[in-house]
Amino acid sequence: MFVDQLARKHLANSGFYFDYVLDDKGKLVHVFWADATCRKNYAVFGELVSFDSTYSTNQYNMIFTPFTGINHHKASVCFGAAMLHDEKADSYKWLFRTFLKAMGGAAPRFIITDECSSMDNAVREVFPAAAHRLCMWHIMNKIPQKVGPDLKTDEDFHERLGRCVWSSETPTEFEERWKEIMSEYGLEDDEWFSKRFNLQESWIPAYFKEIALSGLMRTTSRSESANSFFSCIIGYKHALVEFWLRFDTDLEEQRHKELQEDHMSLHTMPVLKTLWAIEKHGGEVFTHEIFQDFQHELLADRDRCLVEMMAHDGEVKTITIHDGYKKLRVVTYNTTTMVGSCTCKLFETHGIPCRHPIHVLRTAQLNELPKHYVLKRFRKDCKTEQVFDKDGILLEGNESSSIDPEIQKLASETFKKMEDLLVQAKQSQVSMQFLRDHIFALGE
Ligand SMILES: [Zn+2]
Repeated sequence: MFVDQLARKHLANSGFYFDYVLDDKGKLVHVFWADATCRKNYAVFGELVSFDSTYSTNQYNMIFTPFTGINHHKASVCFGAAMLHDEKADSYKWLFRTFLKAMGGAAPRFIITDECSSMDNAVREVFPAAAHRLCMWHIMNKIPQKVGPDLKTDEDFHERLGRCVWSSETPTEFEERWKEIMSEYGLEDDEWFSKRFNLQESWIPAYFKEIALSGLMRTTSRSESANSFFSCIIGYKHALVEFWLRFDTDLEEQRHKELQEDHMSLHTMPVLKTLWAIEKHGGEVFTHEIFQDFQHELLADRDRCLVEMMAHDGEVKTITIHDGYKKLRVVTYNTTTMVGSCTCKLFETHGIPCRHPIHVLRTAQLNELPKHYVLKRFRKDCKTEQVFDKDGILLEGNESSSIDPEIQKLASETFKKMEDLLVQAKQSQVSMQFLRDHIFALGE
């Protein structure tokens, strides 16, 4: 019944992808599915994927494994989900390969999972180029069980450890803080803490400032471990068909929320707190949620930034900025394009231009943010473009669902042929002109 349900979904919208494995008695072993919207989400936001596995979602002891990411409103989006029979490396390999197939072969750049050796194994084999890190919330959530009753309720301890993990800016800073806390609370010889310390490069943000947008992992991991993403599912023992209904309801709720936020961002301007043109420009391009972070940087610049020293090397200029938090930042930028980098790495890790280059832009009285600083995935209009999969199927939730499958098939064939023709025609100007004229004539 469950597989039939998925087949019906596919019939109604050919953008719905699913695959499954049966054992020799016909029993369901693994099943994966991703609808058109999931696949479109992946095309827009898929560089960062969080992969989770959890029991206790159904009566058959199958493991529920959703793939999630972060959208342009900093909320979780679903890229697809699966049920697995067990947690063996081969099961995960099947799943990751199926996921890759569903997504037209595009692997994520950055993947976050729980601590699990068979998962680790499968990630390395199927996504060899992806940076793989562990979910920090899963680790942090375990701490209360790993300490004695006194420490469990010691707010000071949890706050300090949290600051050490989340806010350390460099590996050295992290290591110093960690060691200090361990020694002060007598945890130096604790096996669990020592092991987590040795795994530092896999889960402490200070170690992956070089991974683009790695700062978003905080958001992904948090929503998952709070189980707020699929709240109707987790913690129950559903039959599969009932599970499906609840999964669908959860998904619909998330999507409804996203549509509301899209509507707000597209049709209203956020409250501007300064008279700067650059703030207005930010309000025009970023979604409200991203704009808030941008505005935070902008306002910080107004209050505190102090340029201290300058160096010039041709077009490239280097300045040192005191940002009032006793931190010295170095901004190196091109004086023609006004694009540069800052040692705080906020833009690289979070995609938000930090107060330091903003200071440079404002001083130069620029009215707009250079394109470099406006990531497509954070723009208000990042999902308005149509996305097609490799078979030329339009990945759209509702629009294509009403289309007759026969028409969809013809459309897909036409799309593929057009692509071929374009590739051929591009080889010379004469052939390109020929194709263009005929298409235009058809349009007339
Ligand atoms: Zn900075």
